[in-house]
Amino acid sequence: MSIAESAPARADAPFVEKTPEMIAATLRGDQPSLVGLTRSQLKDALASIGVPERELKMRVSQLWHWIYHRGARDFADMLNVSKHLRADLATRFTLNRPEVVSEQISVDGTRKWLIRMQPVGPHDKGAEIEAVYIPESDRGTLCVSSQVGCTLTCSFCHTGTQRLVRNLTAAEIAAQIVVARDRLGDWPGAARPTDGLVPDADRAVSNIVLMGMGEPLYNFENVRDAMEVVTNGEGLSLSRRRITLSTSGVVPNIVRAGEEINSMLAISLHAVRDDLRNTLVPLNKKYPIKELLEACRNYPGLSNARRITFEYVMLKGVNDSDADARELVRLLKGIPAKINLIPFNPWPGTKYECSDWDRIEAFSEIVFRAGYASPVRTPRGRDILAACGQLKSETEKLRARARLMLETGIGAEGVYAAGAGEE
Ligand code: SAH
Ligand code: SF4
Repeated sequence: MSIAESAPARADAPFVEKTPEMIAATLRGDQPSLVGLTRSQLKDALASIGVPERELKMRVSQLWHWIYHRGARDFADMLNVSKHLRADLATRFTLNRPEVVSEQISVDGTRKWLIRMQPVGPHDKGAEIEAVYIPESDRGTLCVSSQVGCTLTCSFCHTGTQRLVRNLTAAEIAAQIVVARDRLGDWPGAARPTDGLVPDADRAVSNIVLMGMGEPLYNFENVRDAMEVVTNGEGLSLSRRRITLSTSGVVPNIVRAGEEINSMLAISLHAVRDDLRNTLVPLNKKYPIKELLEACRNYPGLSNARRITFEYVMLKGVNDSDADARELVRLLKGIPAKINLIPFNPWPGTKYECSDWDRIEAFSEIVFRAGYASPVRTPRGRDILAACGQLKSETEKLRARARLMLETGIGAEGVYAAGAGEE
């Protein structure tokens, strides 16, 4: 049955008596949100409140449609869902999104949101991550985080200075797109904001890059499941070709990503010799350049129309010589590739500087002559520290302060109640 049609009344469905536990959960206000759930998670959630097995598939489709196509915030709006079920859903679940703690808008229209996830335990205030929206005239790209912090320690990356706090769940990854669409009025009938550039396209969020905080291939299953929500025609419905997963080079999972995620791939290369790459991207000690490029060659479905992007951050006097450029071109021979030269985005305390402009031009000229077009990526949102590698949330600091206060005898609840956040 089509989800647009009216669903049959659930006259034969068992009435679900509320248990004391359900009532207590409602009173505490901690019903789980259905936003961001995969089909199978949603199916389990519905089964847990007594939706009969034979209805589950249809109900999941209905709810997915309301959540991901319509941006519903209230079960009461879901008019093709029976009244009885809507009431049940509203007592057991919510359609809450992760909270947008702050929004910054750059002079160039880039928006950065600090997003706080639902707490996962009594002493958790909710992990904070950042998502960045980059509008262009004909498309809008959302840069999504996959982890809170990162376990890797690339020496030029601000996120690398933040300890990994935790992996994001699939729902938390997918919910970043729902949040962005809320803020951008990117739902049927919703109004677009007038305070910044929004593209002249059907969808304000038309592309996704997994280039926010974290290493997506070290949170493989959750990233894969979230991308299923994003790409499914009944879900957020974006083509896999509009999703780019960026990795610092987790070789075994590149193969898996090709098989199970099948998005576009970007590799953070940044150096053409192992000794230098070992210091810039320490993961190189485990998976050196040769193995990395071999995995790239074997990435499924490569062609001239479907290339791997190689990212190369321009660091003054470190990796930006003519010899580096020539070696880069030589290394990539035979791989359908794009090269993105990224001017280094500085952050407080870094020891690196961005290469001078004429050096970047000379480097890019060599790359251009080898057949790679327009390779320099214009930094966006630099004024609000929203550019690549500048994202770093306060979550680690909050945890450090919570620990300190616990050690000095003040309960964690006290820390959170005292409005931690204005460090
Ligand atoms: N962890 C993944 C994805 C997140 S980083 C990865 O490393 O690929 C996204 C991109 O920003 C990567 O290419 C990364 O190397 C680059 N980057 C990190 N810090 C940067 C900085 N300060 N200036 C410019 N690019 C940076
Ligand atoms: Fe982590 Fe990527 Fe930053 Fe390296 S560049 S520390 S892998 S987020």
